[in-house]
Amino acid sequence: MNYCSSLLVAVGLVSVMGAAAADKPGYTDTPRITGQQWRVHDADRPQPRIVTPGAAFSHGAPAPSDAVVLFDGKDLSKWTKGGGPAPWIVKDGYMQVLEKSGSIETKEQFGSFQLHIEFATPNPPEGTSQERGNSGVFLHGIYELQVLDCYQNPTYADGTVGALYGQWPPLANAAKPSGQWQSYDIIFEAPKVEGGKVIEPAYVTVILNGVVTQHRKALLGPVRHREVAAYDANTPTRGPIGLQDHGNPMRFRNIWLRPLGEYDKQ
Ligand code: MG
Repeated sequence: MNYCSSLLVAVGLVSVMGAAAADKPGYTDTPRITGQQWRVHDADRPQPRIVTPGAAFSHGAPAPSDAVVLFDGKDLSKWTKGGGPAPWIVKDGYMQVLEKSGSIETKEQFGSFQLHIEFATPNPPEGTSQERGNSGVFLHGIYELQVLDCYQNPTYADGTVGALYGQWPPLANAAKPSGQWQSYDIIFEAPKVEGGKVIEPAYVTVILNGVVTQHRKALLGPVRHREVAAYDANTPTRGPIGLQDHGNPMRFRNIWLRPLGEYDKQ
């Protein structure tokens, strides 16, 4: 086989791989996730099983008495974009992403915490896979808990709602239909850092609509797209809660947080 025919065979193989990827959302050319057999956003990673959540788990529940209320349906005074005002819309007790205005985050920073947040994806839905009802809850502003309309909307496993994006798929797909209010209850344990080194990773437990999707999973580092996540020397032990503008008019309401752990002792 001469050089040209070798090249054609190689190109043919690449196009076959590309065709396989086109049938299933995701990637076949990304690096393998540290400590796992799967690639980042692996098209072949098994899908989380679908679980139908019970009705209205904790939706609209009042905040506990010691909670920091981050959004009570009235204003965005606890939120900012780059130090200025948060540019999103507030109406009828919820906030809505003002598309293309950028992501927002809390003014206050937190260490370890319990966080409650409710969201609704646009109805009727538009787009497919990662383009349908995409947002994210950014823990410490850098680790993404995926928000996505995953009701009858296939996507790659580590990009499903309830996933720690690019790292850990959810244990189940407990998505509700487009437009319905859904709830996240999150327990986040801040990483332990000594002398610029992460000696204990961050751990996250997530309950979506009453169904556990992450059970004290170790985060591998700040969120990455198509790259392997890893901690670096700048890993913070406190940070804000961020909400992502991914170009979809997502809604959020009833957001509260209870600080936990050693970084929050007075
Ligand atoms: Mg997202």
